[in-house]
Amino acid sequence: MKKVLIKISGQLFDHDGASFNKEFAKSFCAQLVELQKTMQCGIVIGGGNFFRGHQHGQQLELPRSTADTVGMLATMMNGVILHNFLRNAGIDALLLSAVYAPQVAPIISQEAIDQALRKNQCIIFAGGTGNPFVSTDTNAIIRALQINADQVWKATTVDAVYDADPKKNPTAKAYKHLSYQEVISKQLNVMDGAAIALAQEHKIVIRVFDVFAPNALLQAAHNQTIGSTIS
Ligand code: UDP
Repeated sequence: MKKVLIKISGQLFDHDGASFNKEFAKSFCAQLVELQKTMQCGIVIGGGNFFRGHQHGQQLELPRSTADTVGMLATMMNGVILHNFLRNAGIDALLLSAVYAPQVAPIISQEAIDQALRKNQCIIFAGGTGNPFVSTDTNAIIRALQINADQVWKATTVDAVYDADPKKNPTAKAYKHLSYQEVISKQLNVMDGAAIALAQEHKIVIRVFDVFAPNALLQAAHNQTIGSTIS
């Protein structure tokens, strides 16, 4: 079965000032139920709805590595919540954490991943990489490689990669296809440089699309031209 790694930003859970968007989580899980009939999915979850290292850490005058530790814990909170939503939707999901927290989730290891894949479980990867100074985007590429997925779907709030912020600049141009090199040289704000470089080295295709569009995940599965593709 084809495998895909879906990266969801914590930002997607922000809703009306609340830290978690129940309606989005429910719709996401319902689509995943369908998607799993044809694809095996892994999920990397961010933590930006609770804490983003560089941003919130600066406000609190925290050293970056301390701030990133809080950020990684934020991804674990989202992971615990999403795990529960997935299970309520009837999905056999497994939460794994890069941060050692045995009361919360088993630690990520290749053995645990392979075992879950054999059982056809949907793995939620929480705790980032377990290391500061990197983002969950880099983590998404690493976990895609670990589950042997050839695509990473970056689920966002915009329908494509643009040459400028489409919310601020109405003439911004959307890209259908980009090379890794173009993303780096044009300094497009898709994923951090480390993530793009790793994806390029291992030929992981990155697809960026609006996850709030109707049935976005199912559309992405059936139509390779949805959103922007980096390859
Ligand atoms: N983080 C980290 N190492 C990682 C992944 C995440 O230190 O491998 C921290 C970092 O502070 C980041 C926060 O966790 O700001 C939440 O992740 P991210 O900002 O990528 O989440 P998103 O914006 O996707 O919700």
